[in-house]
Amino acid sequence: MRKPFIAGNWKMNMTIKEGLEYINEFKDLVKDAEAEVGVCVPATMLKDLVEAAKGTNIKIGAQNMHFENSGAFTGEIAPKMLKEIGVDYVIIGHSERRMYYNETNETVNKKVLKAIEVEIDPILCVGESLELRESGEMKPFVKEQIVKAFENVKAEDVSKVVVAYEPIWAIGTGKTATADQANEMTAFVRETIKSLYDQTVADAVRIQYGGSVKPANVKEIMSKSDIDGALVGGASLVADTFSKVAVY
Ligand code: PGA
Repeated sequence: MRKPFIAGNWKMNMTIKEGLEYINEFKDLVKDAEAEVGVCVPATMLKDLVEAAKGTNIKIGAQNMHFENSGAFTGEIAPKMLKEIGVDYVIIGHSERRMYYNETNETVNKKVLKAIEVEIDPILCVGESLELRESGEMKPFVKEQIVKAFENVKAEDVSKVVVAYEPIWAIGTGKTATADQANEMTAFVRETIKSLYDQTVADAVRIQYGGSVKPANVKEIMSKSDIDGALVGGASLVADTFSKVAVY
């Protein structure tokens, strides 16, 4: 059985003070959530929020990391720096990072391998643009993202990876993929993982849908066979709203 996992992605929002206030309010609202619940927050507040979330069922994740252990990479954060703080997750290959920061399938693969090595579970993002969706070419594109991301990942480590299928055209646009479109693509991601490993390995991987998930649509999305959770941007920024997604 795959445990549902609802994760927030705060992106570049909130100060430490605001983050702490959020966790304080959020912890009571989600204490009985059946799903695993987490928030991926800006690096500046990771340490404080890991502390604040102790003794609660809220997991804390980062939004990016470098794949090297250390070195001359100004402005970057090394895996062991995140490990030292005690984060549970790290988002890897979000479409905004692929788009604005030159993240490629190759760097994504290096980061996935490194996250597994340092024992921080990666939330690996994949998903197609509107152009690809309209041309009907989304499956080969997403397949390539998955195949490359899992290169050299051992079968026994695959279930540590959470995959987030996020069609770029549905991110922050208010346009949600229909629950059936989302399920078709998450099932396709699972099929692709099966082709790389086997059915048992594929069945153990949690696959989230992301893109304008909110309280009004989460129930239908989560009712689908191959969707095991959601990665939530905009609707995760207010504790009360996100609690209604987390406790769907
Ligand atoms: P959204 O963002 O929920 O605001 O569409 C999702 C994401 O980027 O992870």
